[in-house]
Amino acid sequence: MICTRGLCYHYPNGARLVFPDVDVPQGAVLLLSGPSGCGKSTWLAIVAALVVPTAGSITVVGQTLDALQSVAADAWRAKAIGFLPQKLHLSAALSVYQNLAMAQWAAGQKEDASRIHAVLQALGVMELVQRKPGQLSGGQAQRVALARSVLLHPQVILADEPTASLDDEAAADAVGLLLATAKGQGATLVIATHDARVAALIPPVANGKIGFQPSYLQRSAL
Ligand code: ADP
Ligand code: MG
Repeated sequence: MICTRGLCYHYPNGARLVFPDVDVPQGAVLLLSGPSGCGKSTWLAIVAALVVPTAGSITVVGQTLDALQSVAADAWRAKAIGFLPQKLHLSAALSVYQNLAMAQWAAGQKEDASRIHAVLQALGVMELVQRKPGQLSGGQAQRVALARSVLLHPQVILADEPTASLDDEAAADAVGLLLATAKGQGATLVIATHDARVAALIPPVANGKIGFQPSYLQRSAL
């Protein structure tokens, strides 16, 4: 569940962003659309407790973020949020397996090979487990990054421009994979995109569970 009220973010000497209120039920899909620069990535950063809003309040899976101090925010984020960033940030020197193991270590967990294998299997990239990121195609690298983002069973998956620079077929695959993964995990899914193709790839209602809540973030006048 994601609930926001009166969220604003002002970049120092920069954009003053005003966000519409949202109430996203657990397990729903939120499509954040809008042109480049309207504030989608900033909104994701606020939801992930990476950025503290200038004003307003926000609750994510029962946690009120306003009160979180940075150390607590890091621990909370590692457990609750699966982030699929636009730039994937896979470590080039490490294998696919090691990239995922590193995410477990970073969250203070023990390496869990069976969980790593299970998510790679579910995303159809188990055969890539020993490869380095430089030996993956763009689509494969994104699957690995998605595997990493859901490794710790997050209740919220945040995907930033997941179809950027993908052709139509690969874009449909990427969105289908996100929807299936979120559903499989019972996670809320947020897709932030300026890609007009994505809305048509999200069913209005799928199995009575997935909701489609378009939201358009406007830039306020400076
Ligand atoms: P989107 O993801 O929708 O493209 P962003 O959230 O990245 O939008 O950016 C929203 C606005 O904030 C843009 O006008 C951008 O130029 C501005 N912005 C983003 N990051 C910074 C920053 N670090 N400093 C100042 N302005 C920024
Ligand atoms: Mg962005």
